[in-house]
Amino acid sequence: MNQEIERVKVLIVGSGPAGYTAAIYASRAGLEPILYTGGQPGGQLTITTDVENYPGYPDGIMGPEMMEDFRKQAERFGTKVRYGMVTGVDFSQKPHVVTVDDQVTVHADTVIISTGASAKWLGLDSETRLNGKGVSACAVCDGFFFRGQDVAIVGAGDTACEEASYLANICSKVYMIVRRDEMRASQIMQNRVMNNPKIEILWNTETDEILGEDEVNGVRVYNNVTQEKKELKISGFFVAIGHQPNTEVFKDFIHMDEAGYIKTIPGSTKTNVEGVFACGDAQDHIYRQAVTAAGTGCMAALDAERYLAAMENH
Ligand SMILES: Cc1cc2nc3c(=O)[nH]c(=O)nc-3n(C[C@H](O)[C@H](O)[C@H](O)COP(=O)(O)OP(=O)(O)OC[C@H]3O[C@@H](n4cnc5c(N)ncnc54)[C@H](O)[C@@H]3O)c2cc1C
Repeated sequence: MNQEIERVKVLIVGSGPAGYTAAIYASRAGLEPILYTGGQPGGQLTITTDVENYPGYPDGIMGPEMMEDFRKQAERFGTKVRYGMVTGVDFSQKPHVVTVDDQVTVHADTVIISTGASAKWLGLDSETRLNGKGVSACAVCDGFFFRGQDVAIVGAGDTACEEASYLANICSKVYMIVRRDEMRASQIMQNRVMNNPKIEILWNTETDEILGEDEVNGVRVYNNVTQEKKELKISGFFVAIGHQPNTEVFKDFIHMDEAGYIKTIPGSTKTNVEGVFACGDAQDHIYRQAVTAAGTGCMAALDAERYLAAMENH
C-alpha cells in the first residue's frame, strides 16, 4: 500500500463548529492547520434547518449554510480542509501519529479532537422521515419553534427531565413518554417533572409511530403492559434518550468517562496526553450547543498554540 507521511503542527479532527473555530484561530496564528471533516462535513448542524440562537445572525440561518460560512472563514486563513475519517491514532509517540481512511499517515505536533457526538434515536422510519420537520433531539435548540403548542418527549434520564422542564416553560403541554414504570433520573429531577402541571408522564409507554406527512401532527403510543394504543395530537416530538460521543478511535490513549466523553483538565481543553486537546460535544455532555462548541474550539487552538510555543522554547 502507498503510504504518505505528512508532518503538521496542528491537526484538527472534525468539521463542526468546534473544529472550524479551532481552524480559524490556528490558521490566523500561522499554524497552517489541516482539518479532516469526517463522514459528516459541517457536523450536526447540517441536519437541521433554522438556527436561531447563534449570535451574529439576527434573522437566523439554515444550519448547512452556517457551516459553509464556518468552512469558508477557516479556508480564508489557509486551513487545509480535507475529506477523510480518522481511523487510527498512536498518541504514545511524539509527534503523534494519526491515520486517515486507513491509508494516509499524518505526524502531528498537536491534535485537536472535535469529533462531536451523535444523538441516539428510537429507530422508527417516521422518526427519520420527519427529522427536522418536528422531530428533534435538542429541546434547547428547537423548543422555541413549538411555543404555545403541545409536544412529546421520550426519555427517562436527567437530560430528558431537564428538557421536559425546559419545554414546559415554552409549550402548552408536554407528554413525557417513559418506557418503564420508573425513571433513571435522579429523584430531584423526577420531582421537578412530576410536580410540573404542564407535564403529563405516560408510564410503561413506547412510541409506535410519529404521525404526519410533511410535519409532525401526532404520535401513536402504546402501553407495553396492556398493549393499548392511543394517539396524541402534538406538533413537536423530542427524543432525549442519550448521545454517543464519536470518540471510540481515541479510547486506547485518551481518558474518557463511562459514556465516552473525553475528560479535559477543567478550565482548559487539555487531555491526559500532552499536545492532544479536545473541544465541542466530544467533551461536553452538559451544554451541547454550537456556540459552546465554537467557544471551546477557540480555547483548543489557543491551548495548542501555547503548547507549540513552549515546545519551541525548550
Ligand atoms: C437536529 C439538531 C439541531 C440542532 N440545533 C441547534 C441549534 O439550533 N443551535 C445550537 O446551538 N445547537 C444546535 N444543535 C447542537 C449542535 O449541532 C452541536 O452542539 C454542535 O454541532 C457541536 O459541535 P461539534 O463541533 O462539537 O461537533 P459536531 O457538529 O457533532 O461535528 C463533529 C464533526 O466530527 C466529525 N468526525 C466524527 N468522527 C470523526 C473521525 N473519526 N474523523 C474525522 N472526523 C470525524 C464529523 O464528521 C463532524 O464533522 C443541534 C443539533 C442537532 C442534532
